[in-house]
Amino acid sequence: MEQQIKNLRERAQGAIKNSSTLKELDDVRVKFLGKKGELTSLLRGMSQLSAEERPLVGKFVNEARAQLETLIAEKNSELKAAELEKKLTSEKIDVTLSGRRVHDGHLHPLTLTLNRVKEIFVSMGYSVEEGPEVETDYYNFEALNLPKDHPARDMQDSFYITEEILLRTQTSPVQARTMERHKNNEPIRMIAPGRVYRRDDYDASHSPMFTQVEGLVIDKGISFADLKGTLEDFSKKIFGEKTKIRLRPSFFPFTEPSAEVDVSCVMCHGSGCKVCQGTGWLEILGAGMVHPDVLKMSGYDPEEVSGFAFGMGIERIAMLTYGLDDMRLLYDNDVRFLKQF
Ligand SMILES: [Zn+2]
Repeated sequence: MEQQIKNLRERAQGAIKNSSTLKELDDVRVKFLGKKGELTSLLRGMSQLSAEERPLVGKFVNEARAQLETLIAEKNSELKAAELEKKLTSEKIDVTLSGRRVHDGHLHPLTLTLNRVKEIFVSMGYSVEEGPEVETDYYNFEALNLPKDHPARDMQDSFYITEEILLRTQTSPVQARTMERHKNNEPIRMIAPGRVYRRDDYDASHSPMFTQVEGLVIDKGISFADLKGTLEDFSKKIFGEKTKIRLRPSFFPFTEPSAEVDVSCVMCHGSGCKVCQGTGWLEILGAGMVHPDVLKMSGYDPEEVSGFAFGMGIERIAMLTYGLDDMRLLYDNDVRFLKQF
């Protein structure tokens, strides 16, 4: 019996020593010390021993159990430490690995163009005014000398929300609103940039939504020469020093006299090319002297002050400055296109 215990002890010690994982170690514990383990069965066999032998064998068994339990506990901490070490090594963050690059975005070509236009007018002392895109019929048309039956309304067929409320077809209502805020013929020098809406096709040169910038100057003694000088200065700043302008008589209900303004072609500088259809000129904006009725409607006295107004499409300016042949490029959100700016 003593020999059996000694033998069991040696095998158990060897098995503990050779355990390489916590699982293996636990299997060893069950095999030798568990309820159905070898040491337990040895104890059961003690009933066959004589009364003198029992306490002695019991002592051996308990010594063996205590020793094996200690060995298992030691091995257990040893394996746990090893596993932790292994886990730490495998999960270590490699700080030398290069990160994923976040690409900087940039402004849209329309925004860049609009910013440039604003910059030019702000440098000439203009304020930048904004107004609602959902507008009343009164501000969008009537306050601009376009009564309900006026034929020029057809050119600006719009998106109506009700009979009296619509998506603005031009940024001119901002001019009317700004004029109303000023009393006693107070001078105004403003631009109104923003989106406008018209019922239109969507093709290379049309869109039901586009971006407009209108300007308005009111003061004592403002003349057509001031208008021409301002637009010439603006054109040189945006298209280059050599740019010339040309004014052709036109009609707008809110200005009198009115003019279409052309600039010398930015591509061929006047000699004629595909972009200017051989004429050497490009139409870029409409302008004129503010109609006396428009001044009156917004509380100004046309006997005391005069003014000029102009309006342009920012898409057109962007297409000319960047050499684009299709307006839809500006709205399609094609990253391959947008990346180029
Ligand atoms: Zn040309």
